[in-house]
Amino acid sequence: MEHKLTFKAYNEALKRNKLLGLRCKDCGTITVPPKMACRKCANQDMEIVELKGRGKIQTFTTVYVAPEGRKDELPYTIVLVELDEGPWIIGNLIDINPGETTMELIGKRVTMGHKLFPGDRYSAGDAASPLFSPET
Ligand SMILES: [Zn+2]
Repeated sequence: MEHKLTFKAYNEALKRNKLLGLRCKDCGTITVPPKMACRKCANQDMEIVELKGRGKIQTFTTVYVAPEGRKDELPYTIVLVELDEGPWIIGNLIDINPGETTMELIGKRVTMGHKLFPGDRYSAGDAASPLFSPET
């Protein structure tokens, strides 16, 4: 069976602060961002689920050299977050001072929002990207 969660639908949901994932009907593992098959058992029979967008920071990196078009955002911090539902996703961390990040960030609880990146000559339009802020 083919699931209906395309990357476009995932991105449109993200623009409304909704994080969608795919739950494997065989082993229950949640895959996000969407892929054609379960990240654990490769089963393709999956259903769309809405995730809470909350989790904890597993690791982070602060970026001082930006890719093309993102120089004015420097410095910024990227985090790898383990969601409460299991999957790990990458996003920007906000509401902190990127110049003062320490190892204390690891294990901190965060909540997800999103940031809109304008489309460039390589993409079809605006793309949303996960954005995390520390839970208070
Ligand atoms: Zn599976």
